[in-house]
Amino acid sequence: MVIVGSGFGGLFAAQALERAEVDITMLARTTHHLFQPLLYQVATGILSPGAIAPATREVLAKQDNVEVVLGDVTAIDVESRRITATTLGIELDYDYDYLVLAAGAEQSYFGNDDFARNAPGMKSIDDALELRGRIYGAFELAEVAAARGNQEALDRLMTFVVVGAGPTGVEMVGQLVELAHRTLRRDFRHIDPRDARIVLLDAADAVLGTFHPELQASTRAELGELGVDVRLGAKVVDLDSSGLDYVDAAGAEHRIEAATKVWAAGVSASPLGRMVAEQCGVEVDRAGRVPVQSDLSLPGHPEIFVVGDMMALDDLPGVAQVAIQGARHAADHIRRALRGDHERRDFVYNDKGNMATISRFRAVAEVGALRVTGFTAWVMWLVVHLFYIIGFKSQVTTLIHWAVTWLGSERGERTITEQQVFGRLAMLASGREIRDKAARKIGPGVPDGDIPDAATEQPGPQGG
Ligand SMILES: Cc1cc2nc3c(=O)[nH]c(=O)nc-3n(C[C@H](O)[C@H](O)[C@H](O)COP(=O)(O)OP(=O)(O)OC[C@H]3O[C@@H](n4cnc5c(N)ncnc54)[C@H](O)[C@@H]3O)c2cc1C
Repeated sequence: MVIVGSGFGGLFAAQALERAEVDITMLARTTHHLFQPLLYQVATGILSPGAIAPATREVLAKQDNVEVVLGDVTAIDVESRRITATTLGIELDYDYDYLVLAAGAEQSYFGNDDFARNAPGMKSIDDALELRGRIYGAFELAEVAAARGNQEALDRLMTFVVVGAGPTGVEMVGQLVELAHRTLRRDFRHIDPRDARIVLLDAADAVLGTFHPELQASTRAELGELGVDVRLGAKVVDLDSSGLDYVDAAGAEHRIEAATKVWAAGVSASPLGRMVAEQCGVEVDRAGRVPVQSDLSLPGHPEIFVVGDMMALDDLPGVAQVAIQGARHAADHIRRALRGDHERRDFVYNDKGNMATISRFRAVAEVGALRVTGFTAWVMWLVVHLFYIIGFKSQVTTLIHWAVTWLGSERGERTITEQQVFGRLAMLASGREIRDKAARKIGPGVPDGDIPDAATEQPGPQGG
């Protein structure tokens, strides 16, 4: 069988088949399993990438029935049951009897893809490191601007706008406040980081839109107490390097000058969803998700399961538990089918609740009818997240970094580099060329006369 993706869906599907008599090929465009819920902590210097992104190969090293392959899936032919994946321009085909598609979702700019240039999203380690570089870099440049008496630049550099008031946006602004008010408080000579202006924008009229109104209201109040400028009913209509424009609920246009913009506003499912949906005669929904049957398979193709952020079923949200439970459900079908039991069973989602941190010692959580705020919710959040981080090594590292940050005021991962900040834009400009050349170096029978030195042009493993 083939599993596409090494995120929550892909990894948990593979692990659920540990003892099954099946040869699994796991194809993913990154070499790691990513714990996305803590990306904002990498972006704000609390955690290292390694703590939330262990190598998939290492996680599955003891599971003999899995082969992990780095590859970007570019084609799926459901009739001939064949998948094509590309690694640095080299194409390889894989045949399957069963397919679990768990390729997740990508950042969506709602048709304004050019916004991505100046407002990175938060979907990958690359994104988080770029944001870290931009955030800490903005404070550095603000120090220079202040020393030179350039007030206009200073104001722009000290303004941080997060677009999207879901859990990711709320957690991000909370950490920006902590950073400015605790971690960086004494580190500068010309600026006071506490002067940073932190703005949270959303086109909707509530923060944490999927939570109970009571928790929305308490979160909004807490953000106000932290000094976050929350603007709801605010739709971003333009975004450039020096700021953004939005239209408010009354239709009036506003401009915010801000050097740092973070896009936490929307996702659209992997385009692989549309690719298989078209071949199975179903239409993807507005977010590009594939409507699956109640057993999570595709119509006419009981051998293909779509799980996690790519699937549309009963309005289930794009959260880790949906992916994990869906993956286990698909694995159960495959395991039983191997024993000759072909009964199709409906997927029943067990909602374990929602939670989001606001800042140090403050969170909101809802589990069934139970709604919790403040320190208790924060402890619940901490325990749950620690539990789901993959691997003992990552759990210990995370715990140490959390202790440093929450009990003290330090952050252990403040390193930023030029590559972090400018690498993506440089890749956009010339990355394909660099990759193709690198690929030719390992491709069969390709003359390498004009191939530049790999030491200076070797691409990283992260996909496009
Ligand atoms: C910033 C952020 C914060 C979040 N916070 C929470 C939270 O607090 N709680 C919660 O429950 N959920 C949270 N989520 C959502 C949760 O992370 C997702 O619902 C979950 O990761 C979905 O799992 P998945 O397996 O469907 O996709 P993912 O985990 O996204 O995995 C997708 C995999 O597919 C691979 N892939 C994609 N395209 C291709 C291709 N063409 N070829 C090969 N491989 C491919 C990727 O490399 C990746 O390995 C958050 C998400 C984000 C982005």
